[in-house]
Order: sequence, then structure tokens, then C-alpha cells
Amino acid sequence: MQKGAIRVQTENIFPIIKKFLYSDHEIFIRELVSNAVDATQKLKTLASVGEFKGELGNIDIEVRLDKEKKTITIADHGVGMTAEEVDKYINQVAFSGAEEFLKKYKGQENGTNIIGHFGLGFYSSFMVSSKVEIFSKSWKDGAAAVRWECDGSPEYELEEVTKEERGTEIVMHINEESEEFLDEGRIRSILTKFCKFLPVPVKFEGQQLNNTTPAWTKKPSELTTEDYQNFYKELYPFAEAPLFWIHLNVDYPFNLTGILYFPKITKSYEIQKDKINLYSNQVYVTDEVKDIVPEFLMLLHGVIDSPDIPLNVSRSYLQGDPNVKKINAHITKKVADKLDEMFRNDRKGFEEKWESIGLFVKYGMMTDEKFMDKANKFLVLENVDGGTFYTREEYKTAAEALQTNKEGKLVILYATNPVQQDSYVQAAKNKGFVVVKMETLVDSAFISNIEAKWENVQFTRVDADIADNLIDKDENNNTVLTADQEGKLKEIFTAQVTQPNIKVELKGLNAESQPVIVTRPEFMRRMKDMASMGGGGMSWYAAMPDEINMTVNANHPVYLNILDEKDNALQEKQVKNLADLALLSQNLLTGADLTAFVNRSVELMANAKK
Ligand code: ADP
Ligand code: MG
Repeated sequence: MQKGAIRVQTENIFPIIKKFLYSDHEIFIRELVSNAVDATQKLKTLASVGEFKGELGNIDIEVRLDKEKKTITIADHGVGMTAEEVDKYINQVAFSGAEEFLKKYKGQENGTNIIGHFGLGFYSSFMVSSKVEIFSKSWKDGAAAVRWECDGSPEYELEEVTKEERGTEIVMHINEESEEFLDEGRIRSILTKFCKFLPVPVKFEGQQLNNTTPAWTKKPSELTTEDYQNFYKELYPFAEAPLFWIHLNVDYPFNLTGILYFPKITKSYEIQKDKINLYSNQVYVTDEVKDIVPEFLMLLHGVIDSPDIPLNVSRSYLQGDPNVKKINAHITKKVADKLDEMFRNDRKGFEEKWESIGLFVKYGMMTDEKFMDKANKFLVLENVDGGTFYTREEYKTAAEALQTNKEGKLVILYATNPVQQDSYVQAAKNKGFVVVKMETLVDSAFISNIEAKWENVQFTRVDADIADNLIDKDENNNTVLTADQEGKLKEIFTAQVTQPNIKVELKGLNAESQPVIVTRPEFMRRMKDMASMGGGGMSWYAAMPDEINMTVNANHPVYLNILDEKDNALQEKQVKNLADLALLSQNLLTGADLTAFVNRSVELMANAKK
């Protein structure tokens, strides 16, 4: 028997391994099963090049639990190790990795996930074990089987033993603090998390837990729509069917495979982030894919697999990594191309999905210039009446004749709540304007963002002004009233409408237009909307009273009656009621003012009898 001391120059590795991985002990299973997979894959490679000429036989990896002996065993039928190899790969190499690791990560707390990438994977077993044994028999002809043992101190034992089967068994004697792992349910759930898609069968209690050929590892040409949908179900058993998907498959200049699914997004905005899982050669790594996947696509679901994403570095480093940057850009391009293709090949289908897609597209356009350049072609605006969609170019064609203002800007008219803003929508439509819906969460931010990027375009909400003034201020104020009547009407209105934030103006609109129209200027309203959504440093806007324009349509026939009224008190009440009605229709009448309005209305109706 060989005895020796594991060479650790700096200090004892085990307390450090324990400290680093304290919160994530379960990864020892991932590391050891990964090693078993690696060993099996190596053997398959040797067989395929003709170096290994024997029978591969059963190559399943088996995870065994012995509650009585308090052991977890991971057994494979891979290449195995000779005594020299154990010495080299376990005693020496692992520890040079350990030293490098120590040098780099001393004093840092974010050591999770990195262990395996410093050749330390095997030693993660010591996080949960008081003793670890290796039984191994190499594939090489005539190799003697060996047993290695270490109890976590720098001393190990290595001896020859008899072992029939080729391959390696790692036996972990679980320590007292880690007895939670001596539970079938726990082991099964850890295996399901990390090993679900490993390329070699992994069995636990006689049952294979993994799908060795998940959809993303296949060629797109080998897969049907149903295959993609079934794989989605495999990933998210309870989710609604996805809208569509993108199969990523790159091998140069970086290696990336995966399938990204677009989930259906309902109006309730049950948006779930962290639904993309990152794999490295089919080993689950993390569901934190920030930086790898562009922010605006974090709502996608699915899997990406890349051995080229560095896992052995901190998050801040990941941001600057050239491969990560390239992968991020590649994903953005793929998504844009896919959307473009869908738009061109099946516009109807594209429009039907717009409610869900639109969110990504708008968010993407705001945050990514390159994406915006492409998306300009397929972003669509939906008419308030629904069903009709315009690209930016199409909107221009439909609206430019009537909706180009004096500065030469195309004014895109929109409603954020078509039902509530119905009277304004109707007024605009009567003028022949095209009004689109902008009712989703991102729209207000999207509007201000895109206005700055699209040249010669301006967005105006349909209730920002009376219809006559939406495109350009109409200075023609002629009314059917005499100057005296106008003066009188204005006088009653200003006496009745005393709120300092309301500006009253007399105009000669169409007789069919409302007698009083309340509007909120675009700029001020946007500021307030942003402030109420918590816009940085703007909270003072939220506290400001609304800036309101009250347009009195002096051409409305009701005013001839009111001006004829001899009872001054009644006349004032009628005017006040008209003003309140307009405020009410914009949700701007509340509290005591609303109560007074209700009481006054009842009183006016009672008087109307005589
Ligand atoms: P890494 O997997 O990153 O190389 P590990 O500490 O996990 O680092 O393993 C160290 C080395 O030990 C492996 O590279 C491999 O040569 C050897 N090894 C570990 N587990 C096995 C196994 N089950 N079968 C064969 N060799 C193994
Ligand atoms: Mg390893």
C-alpha cells in the first residue's frame, strides 16, 4: 500500500472548500456525476477511434444510497484510473488547481460554481464527507484496480484491490452535518436539477432520470413542431404552449446551442424572469443568465448551452468577456431575424401574436440600437378599433396627408385607454385621423424613447387637445355668438371654474362637438405619468396639480339657451354642471366637487319639471 501526503503548500484545502461552498453543498453531486460522464465520454471517444477495442457494455452511471452505512456512491463504467493516474489526477493535478483557486479567490465570497473549473470538482465531495473512497479500474489492458482513500486531512492511502468491472466508483461517507443528503427525495431532486439532460444515462434506484438527447442537441432539421413543443413541456410542465421558438446552433467563433421559447404573455403581466437555464455540455449550471442573454430577452424561456461561457469568474467579469458579448449579440440578431421572417412570411400570424411579441420588440428597440434598426421594419401599431396594424411606414402613408404638422413632423395619435378616451377617439376619427392603441406597460417609456430616435415623428395622445388642435393649434376662434354673448359666456365660466390649474378658453368648434372639452397637454401629462411610475428625481411632478385646458365650444346650441336664462343662479349652475361633466368624463372630478355635482344635478332635474 502506498501512503502519502497530498501536497498543499498554502494551507489545508478542505476548510476552504467547505467555506466557499457552504451555501451550495448540493453541487458535489453535479461535480461527481459530471466526472463520471466525462470518463464515459472519453471511453466512447477511445472506442470510436479504435483505441479501445473491447465491449462498451453497460455504460450507465449509477447513483446509490446506503442509509445504513451512510454512504452515497457514484459508479460509472468509463475509462477508470490506474494507480499512476489517481496519483496524477487526484493527488497532484487537483491540488495545483486548488492552489490556483486559492490564489485567485482568497477573500472573495462568490466562489460557488467555480470549483469544478479549477480541477477541484472531485474535492467538492469533501464538503459533505468525512471520508471518500475511490475504487477504480482502468480500461487499459491488464491494469490493476486501485482503491484510494482520504478522510479530509492531507493524508491519503492508495492500494491495489480486486474490482471486476471497468470504471470508477466514488464512495462518500457522509458526515454528520450533511445527513440531509441521505434522503432519496433530496438526491432525486438534486439529480433532476443538475443531471436532467446529461448525455449518459444516470440511474437512481433503478430508474433513469435523464433525457440523454434533449431537443437542443439535435439539428433543427431533425425536429418537428411537436418535438419543440414536447421539449417545452419537459422543461415547464405547467406552462401554456409557447408562441414560437428559436433554435440556436453555432459552432464558430464560439460554441452555442439552445432553444429559446417565446412564452405567451397575458395582459395580467405575469412575467417570469429567470426562466432560461444555462448548461455547459448538458450539465446544468445556473438560471442566472444576465449579460449572456440581453436584458430585453430575459422574459424568454428555454435553454442555452455553451462550454465557452466562463463560469470560473465573477459576474462583473462576465460582462466584459468577449465570448459573452458575442453570444449576447448573436442571440439578439437571431431573435430579430426570426421576428422579421415571421413578419414577412406570415403577417397575420405575427399580428395575432403581437400582444405578446410587442412587449419584447418595444423593450428591445429602447435598449438596443442594432435591434431597433431591424425592428423598425416589423414594429406594428394597432388601430384603436383593433385588427388593423400599421408599420411605421404604413402609418405614415395612411396619415401623413392630415397629420403632418407645421414643422413637417408626422403626428402619431394614440390612446392609452380607448374605452375611457372614447369621446376623444371619436372626435379624432371624425376628422379623419388614424388613432392607434398604446395601452401596455412599456408604451409610455417606449413613446418618449422612440420619439428621440425616429426622425420627424411626434406622438400625441388623443386627449392632449381638442381634435382641431391635435396636429396644429387652430387659431381660428370665430363663433356663432356675438362679441357680447362671448364675453358674457366667458365671464360666467371663469366665475364658476375657479380651480387655478384649469385654463378656460372659448372656441368655435363644430356644433356637434361636446359643449365643454377638457384636455391635458401632452408634455405635462407625460411628466406626471412618469413621476407616478417612480421616475427618478421627478416625484415633485406627481404632487403638482394636473394642468388642464377647458375648451368651451361656443357653437354648441346649449349656450343660446343658457344665455337666454333670466335666473342668474340657475344659469350659473348650468354652466358649472357642464364644466363638471367634462371633468367627470376625464376622471378629474372627485371628492367634495363630485358630491356637489351630484347634488346640483338632482336639483337641476327637479327644477326642470316646471
Ligand atoms: P476536472 O473534472 O475539472 O478535471 P476534477 O477534480 O473533477 O476536475 O477531476 C480531476 C481529474 O480526476 C479528472 O480530470 C479525471 O482525470 C479524474 N477523474 C475524476 N473522476 C473520474 C472518474 N469518475 N473516472 C475517471 N477519472 C476521473
Ligand atoms: Mg470534474
